[in-house]
Amino acid sequence: MRVPILTYHGVNIAGGGYADNDHVAFAADLELIQSLQLRIVPLQWVVDQRLGRSRRDLRGCVALTCDDGSNFDYDDLDHPQHGVQRSFYNSLRRFRDHHGVRAQPDLHLTSFVIADPVARERMDRQCLVGRDWMQSRWWRAAQDSGLIAIENHSWDHNHPCLDSPGPHGLVRGDFHAVASEAQAEFEIARAQHYLAQQLAPQAPRLFCYPFGHVNDFLRADWLPRRGPAVGLDAAFGDGAAPVTMTSDRWNLPRYICGWHWRSPEALRAILESAAD
Ligand SMILES: [Zn+2]
Repeated sequence: MRVPILTYHGVNIAGGGYADNDHVAFAADLELIQSLQLRIVPLQWVVDQRLGRSRRDLRGCVALTCDDGSNFDYDDLDHPQHGVQRSFYNSLRRFRDHHGVRAQPDLHLTSFVIADPVARERMDRQCLVGRDWMQSRWWRAAQDSGLIAIENHSWDHNHPCLDSPGPHGLVRGDFHAVASEAQAEFEIARAQHYLAQQLAPQAPRLFCYPFGHVNDFLRADWLPRRGPAVGLDAAFGDGAAPVTMTSDRWNLPRYICGWHWRSPEALRAILESAAD
């Protein structure tokens, strides 16, 4: 297995081009993946394969994820500076309308969302444009569409816009700071619990590290020990490599749009090298 995992951020909207707008990039990348005759599969399939629970043929496959969980994932929104943005969800639907179900029968996107409604509201005011675009009301509709899974991107991202220190002495602004038992329970287990309540009967099974910050306490101690008990199968970082059978279960690598690639040509090189 050598499956590249691609990551987008719905709030990355700084212009209208591929390099400065993740919605433009996402829609173009769906077409690129199709033209390269690669197959989009749910992220959970890659995890199940890695954990030996399934033995699908995942040659020529790629999985899609997006982080932070703003309304831009699901709704088309009129950005005050950059105009109407087509959501990731509507790009998936549009792709399916154009190409038919058989083109990508397992078409899927995993959206890693921030759990805490208070933190989301603070981020909406301080980091977005204060239009209440960090809601949770679209989560269930997205999940019910069958095209999107909602997964765990921590309780509050330990975001710099939050009051510091937070609970359990947590210094804000950096996920490396989550380095004690109580802090990990607060940031990861609490989010698991909240998301399971919101999404029942579905429950989150995947975690991705805010800011891509992976520390040894979480990766090598807390998650191996507590992860399965709180319902987690795996965790994702930003290692810029394909997932293989020897990838670290608690730090599975991903490629980040705007960082590891900024053009269709660069993504094509990533996808072609992963397939070798
Ligand atoms: Zn994030």
